[in-house]
Order: sequence, then C-alpha cells, then structure tokens
Amino acid sequence: MQANMIRKIAERDPVTLQTEASVFQLYGRLLGYVFQHRGGLVMGFISIVGVSLLQVLIPQITRYVIDTLIPAQRFDLLIWVGLSIVAIALLLGTFNFLKSYSLALVGQRTIYQLRNDLYQHLQKLSLGYFENQRTGALMARLTQDVDSLQTLITADAAELIAEIVTFSAVVTYLFYADWSLTLMILATLPIMVGLTQLFGTRMRGAYRQAREQGAEVSNHLQETLTNMKVIKACANEGYEIDRFSDYNQQNLEANVRVVKLWSAFSPVIDFMNYLGYVIVLVYGAWEVMRGRLTIGEMTAFLAYLGQVNQPAKKFSKLMHALQKAAAACERLFETLDTEPDIQEKPDALELPPVQGNLKFESVDFAYSPGQPVLQQFSLEIQPGTTVALVGPSGAGKSTIASLATRFYDPQKGRILMDGYDLRDLTFNSLRRQMGIVSQETLLIYGTVRDNIAYGKPGVTDETIEVAARAAHAHEFITALPQGYDTLIGERGVKLSGGQRQRLAIARALVKDPAFLILDEATSSLDTESEALIQAALDRLMHGEPNSGGDRTCLVIAHRLSTVQKADCIVVLEHGQIVEMGTHVALLARQGRYADLCQGQFFVADPSASDLGIVNKGVRATA
Ligand code: ATP
Repeated sequence: MQANMIRKIAERDPVTLQTEASVFQLYGRLLGYVFQHRGGLVMGFISIVGVSLLQVLIPQITRYVIDTLIPAQRFDLLIWVGLSIVAIALLLGTFNFLKSYSLALVGQRTIYQLRNDLYQHLQKLSLGYFENQRTGALMARLTQDVDSLQTLITADAAELIAEIVTFSAVVTYLFYADWSLTLMILATLPIMVGLTQLFGTRMRGAYRQAREQGAEVSNHLQETLTNMKVIKACANEGYEIDRFSDYNQQNLEANVRVVKLWSAFSPVIDFMNYLGYVIVLVYGAWEVMRGRLTIGEMTAFLAYLGQVNQPAKKFSKLMHALQKAAAACERLFETLDTEPDIQEKPDALELPPVQGNLKFESVDFAYSPGQPVLQQFSLEIQPGTTVALVGPSGAGKSTIASLATRFYDPQKGRILMDGYDLRDLTFNSLRRQMGIVSQETLLIYGTVRDNIAYGKPGVTDETIEVAARAAHAHEFITALPQGYDTLIGERGVKLSGGQRQRLAIARALVKDPAFLILDEATSSLDTESEALIQAALDRLMHGEPNSGGDRTCLVIAHRLSTVQKADCIVVLEHGQIVEMGTHVALLARQGRYADLCQGQFFVADPSASDLGIVNKGVRATA
C-alpha cells in the first residue's frame, strides 16, 4: 500500500517525490530494518553519549585551569589536570571505538539483510519484469544503492546523533552558565539552518541529475561490455567510445554542479561560524572587562561555540547523504514492493510425475495490451510424442514454449499439464520436470562439470560423464586443459557455439525431464556438429524418462531439416495454426509447410516419416 502510494507520487511527479511525506515513510521502513539490531544500537548510543559528555568536560577543565589554578599558582594540581585529560582522552578513544564498531556492525548487518531480501525477491519476480529492466540499473540497486544506505547508517546518522547529544549537553550548560551570551551564540543558528535548507533544495536537484547520469554511464558500460563481440564485428568501437564519452561528459557536468554547490556551501557556513566567534569574542571580552565573566569562562564559551555550530554543519553534510540515501531507499523498496506478475497460489499443488500431456485450451496471450500474440490457440500434445512448431519469425513459437513453462500466464483460456491447470501448480514441481534447451545457451561461471550438473544439483560424476558422452561432448571436454574441471567463462565465451549447445544438451540429459522443450537447439552448429547434435538430440528426445516411454518433446526450429522426424509438425502464422501433420503429409499437401521447405532449399526425406501417421500425438487444432 505504502509503496503503491510512493509509486503513484513518483508517476505523478518524480521530482517532488522526495520532498513529500514519502521520504519519512522510506526512512521509517529503513528504520524497521535497523531496529532489528537493538544490541548494537544501544551500545552505539551509550558510546555516543559517553563521547559527547567527555567532550563537554574538556573546556570545563580549561576554564578551571585558567580561572582557578593559574591565579592560585597551584603547581601541585597541574599534574593531576594533565593526568585527568589523558584519562579522558583514553576513555574518549574507547567510546569512539565502541561507537564506530557497534554502529558499523548494525549498518553491515542491516545491509546484509536488505541485500538478501532484495536478491530473494528478485528471484521471485517474473521473467517479464527482467525483460523490462536494464541489467545495469538492477545491479546498481544491489550494489551502489545498498552501499549508500550503509554509509548513511554507519557514518552520517551516527555523527548526527553524536552532534545532537553534544549540542543538547552544551546548550544546557551554557544557559546555566550565562544565558545572555548563550542566546548570542545561538543567534547565528537559525541563519545557518535557513542557509542549509536553501542549499539543500538546490543540491537535491543537482544530486538527482548526477545520479541519473551516473546510472546512464553504468548502463552503457554494462550493455557494451557484455556485447563486445557485436561491437567489434560491426567495427563500432569508435561510435561506442563517442557515445560513452557523451554520457561521461554529462555525468561530469552533473557532478560538477553538485561540487560547485557543495563548495559554495562550506565557506558560507564557515563565515557564519566566524560571525558567531566575533559575537562571543567581542561580547565576552566586554563582559570580562565589566567583571561579569571570567577569562576562563570566556575561553570555555569560545570552545563551546564550535560544538554548538557543529551540528548545523554536520546536518548539512547529512542532508547530502540523506538525499542520496532517500533515492536509494526509494528504488530498493520499489523493487521489494513489486509483485511478481506470475504468482504461485498459496495452496498450489505438487504436480505428480509428468506423463507429458500438454494442452492449450483457447489461449489468448499478449505481452502488451492490444498486441495479441496468440488468439484462441488450442493444441494438445500427447505423452511420448514429439511435436515441432515451425513458422516465420515472430509467429509465436517461443511464446508457446514460455507459456508451457509458465514464464507467463495467458490472459484467456487454460494451459494444462496432465489435466492440471498450470496456475494451480507449484513452480518447482512443474519446472523440475521440464527441460529446456533454448536458443541462447547460457552457461554459468564455473567448471564444465558444474555446468552439466546445474540441471540437477548433486548428481554424480558418473552420470555427468554418461550425459556428456550421450551429448557428444565428452570428446571435446577431455581435450580441454583440465577436462571436466576446466573453468568456463561468463556465458561460456571460451567454447564454440556447438560446444555450448552440446553442454546444454548434456545438462538436459542429466535432468532427464519427462517433458522437453528444444527451442532452436541446433541453431549454432556447423553441418558436422549438427549431425553429432542430431544424434545426441535423438537420444535426448527418445530417452526413457520416469514415465517409462519416450519423452514428450516440443521442438521449435527454423531449420526444417531438424524437425522432419517429429510425430507432428505444427505450422504457425501470426499465432494461429495454419497446418498440421507429418513432414511427408505436409509436403504432399503443397501448402505453407511445403513453401517453407522450398524457401530453405530443403530436400524432402520421405523415409523420415510415414504418410499414415499424420497427426500422431496432436489432437486439437486452431
Ligand atoms: P522467432 O522464430 O524469431 O524466435 P517466434 O515465432 O518464436 O519468433 P516469439 O518470440 O514467440 O516468435 O514472438 C512472437 C511475438 O511476440 C513477436 O511479435 C515478438 O516481437 C513478441 N515478443 C516476443 N517476446 C516478447 C517479449 N518478451 N515482450 C514483448 N513482446 C515479445
């Protein structure tokens, strides 16, 4: 609710967001995290009070020396004064250590908790969320945003509390000692607060711009560094350097604006400090001359002046951090409050061992309103059969695969696995029984073994090797420097496209899913590897899953040569089934499929299928 309100305010006018009550709501939520570590907070607070009181004591000792010891020539007591200051310094050091350590611990633990919560929440969010987000921005949330909160909690907030405690102690004493002089000291305070406000408002705008420009720089970095291959292939290095330079320039200008304001602010505050000093010096000296104030008292007043003005100065510094942290909080909590589009029901069922009957019942689906991808789409895949989806790019083939794994929910109609509506099932029980070898073969950073085992964590080395052999990957793996223990880089950059795909097939083999989705699994292969992969895929598709029969397979392919053995080929166009049948039957029909085959110069292999088994494995049509 709170977050929705914040989001609404942000939509209405992002610039005013932080000036409205939302800032307090954001900090309220942040404090909720901080207050989970009460032990550290109490220790920190006690230390802060200790430090403040000890600091107040030192000018008093100075006053005592000037007013009492010096006139009385008490040489004997000087040593004790010296010793007591050393003792105070030691105590100050101890309190300062306890303050820094306990508050830093609170900060670190808060950040640990926040980062964990955020990551857990990100894992729960639907795929659609990540498709609409820039990775750089998300990374910034987990790193920079979280870090700026850490600085706020551990350093800036602690400093402010310390200053407020000191301020209260000093002002109380000063009023007791000389209320008229105290009023004079405090005279400059409202001006300082006013100036801080004025600068704060301007700095807020400058900060926001600097933050946005900083995010542009990191987004650009993230996007270009992960796409180096495309940049180099298009010889676009110069273009990217220029683009980066532009972003960097804007970032520089935004930061220079912040620096300019900040640099102007400090001297103004310093000037006010000197004004306060002049008041105390002139008025104090006047009072000393009139015999209403001792020299020691005046010296102490001058020392306290700094302590009174410090909070105003620190507050301005804190405003700086608060603005930065408010923006960070806003983004963090906004992410934490994002509800996953696709949610598991609280009473979701565990899908029993899958037989493989997948049914789309009059499904309507659109990624964005008004742009339908599937309309009244119906299809039934029988257990143990292989169904191939073919059709022009954008026809909706991958969308069907994404719906089958419940990455998205249809807007209308139902999708059933063995008679269970996917929306009634737990994610784990569904996805654990489905295997996907997709167009983009993503490899995790780790060894070859880790990558194969990722399909089923905890699997034995023997199973990994059996899978690798079946996927025709064992040969190239053993040729790698450390064999199965070779580290493969981010996205498997050290492996060829064909090798990556064979690892992905081995991963799927290890998982041994009852239902398999191959999304253009042989796309990045040369003819030789394709033959190897085809053999591996055949083994994968016709494996013996827990159901005891053939695996149920949904194959998406552009290259029609890879689907000719399918029990049924479904030809899609604009999200509609236009033809369905075996390879041979469809060729004989001389329709869209035959056109597609001709378009690819594909030579029919009549032995691949049999005219008599048209539509085996598929029932419903569009
Ligand atoms: P290809 O063979 O090129 O992979 P396809 O037949 O698999 O194409 P889909 O990827 O399912 O087609 O896309 C169907 C339509 O949905 C296209 O118009 C595409 O632009 C759109 N689309 C696909 N993914 C998304 C997405 N994540 N967000 C918005 N629109 C999408």
